[in-house]
Amino acid sequence: MFRFDLHVHSCLSPCGDLECSPAAVVRTAKARGLNGIMLADHNTAMNAPALAEVCRRETFQCLFGMEVTTMEEAHCLAVFDTLEQASAMTEICYAALPKRVNQPEVFGDQPIVDADEGIEDLEWRLLSAPTRLPLRTVGEKVHELGGLFIAAHIDRPVFSVTSQLGGIAGDEGFDAVEFSRHADLDEWEAKACGLPFIRSSDAHYLADIGSIWTEAPFERLSVEALKAAFRDRTLGWGRRGESDE
Ligand SMILES: [Zn+2]
Ligand SMILES: [Zn+2]
Repeated sequence: MFRFDLHVHSCLSPCGDLECSPAAVVRTAKARGLNGIMLADHNTAMNAPALAEVCRRETFQCLFGMEVTTMEEAHCLAVFDTLEQASAMTEICYAALPKRVNQPEVFGDQPIVDADEGIEDLEWRLLSAPTRLPLRTVGEKVHELGGLFIAAHIDRPVFSVTSQLGGIAGDEGFDAVEFSRHADLDEWEAKACGLPFIRSSDAHYLADIGSIWTEAPFERLSVEALKAAFRDRTLGWGRRGESDE
């Protein structure tokens, strides 16, 4: 089974630990038995080029995307195969972010780094701010670019479709929903409107990477492979401490 985590924050997220460079994230994910990851920074995929280079060097698989904050302040994952698609989505988010400057002493630094952990730039926009994009527009843009649109951590009491919009209605255009590592599946599967689900660490610290994962019977992580797994309901999940390794 291929184990993956589509929701890991890098140092570029204001709330992400500065130790979470793409290089450190990939090495940690590999050491903890994952086969693929995606960095899901808030409203940006600017650390995706470093992720791509690190994965090339480490022979590790990844996808490219981000955790978009919609106008309603609901977090949604945008998942793409290529850097070009992720970069186009970053442009869409940046155009829709308020012109608010990050205050590093309050929110934390937002470094864009290279594959060797060198700092290339400090993002000036406050990335944790909501975009002006309605949820449905975000979904449309993601799909136009060929990506997957996933409702993030719907079991969480903040920044989720549940907390902001009352729950999943089923017509938002989501390809899947995500449950956090704290979710009680008996409760939350019933609230997912029949959508397939993934589980992710939403790690902001290296220590949390590999705490939970999604698994599927494919060998290559891609949007197409995920779509097939969603359709055929072949996804499973596991968490550290519960497996027999
Ligand atoms: Zn979130
Ligand atoms: Zn997150």
